[in-house]
Amino acid sequence: MSDLSRLILDRIRDVPDYPKPGILFKDITPLLSDPEAFAAVTDELAGLHTVDKIVGIEARGFILAAPAAYRARAGFVPMRKKGKLPAETLDASYDLEYGSATIEVHRDAFAPGDRVLIVDDVLATGGTARAAVELVRRAGAEVVAVAVLMELAFLKGRERLDGVGLHSLVIV
Ligand code: AMP
Repeated sequence: MSDLSRLILDRIRDVPDYPKPGILFKDITPLLSDPEAFAAVTDELAGLHTVDKIVGIEARGFILAAPAAYRARAGFVPMRKKGKLPAETLDASYDLEYGSATIEVHRDAFAPGDRVLIVDDVLATGGTARAAVELVRRAGAEVVAVAVLMELAFLKGRERLDGVGLHSLVIV
């Protein structure tokens, strides 16, 4: 395991049965509050690819994507839960364990052909990331890769990304 992976793994806290029984929640707040670890993660994300925009998925993706975009001199684009963005949006729905969820992005968030990196904290079933990829493409931009701090490999989310490049800073 790389030094960065160890740095991250040691600062992600497992919270059992949150937000509901049977879920082991990966809490990134210890990592965020450590200046060296937060800087190392930001630098890593910013250096993965040369891109025009970095998308953050609400809400923890925002915390990681915004400083990475600043560092990379890329634009930051928020992808939000339904009903939160003020202007005209595109939306995509995906299945959760129970029910479904919808995420949105502003229709004009990207220039045609923009190269885009999508960032979130955790890849679980991959439904969220897959919907994010679809939205970026429908908005006329190119998905260069998806990046997450932690991939929960046993949920096989990677397989739902249909070959889109995936950078997982830690795989468990
Ligand atoms: P999924 O769509 O199943 O890949 O779920 C990914 C989204 O749900 C990400 O935005 C994560 O922040 C959140 N998520 C899913 N499972 C967990 C978990 N065990 N711990 C923390 N966040 C999670």
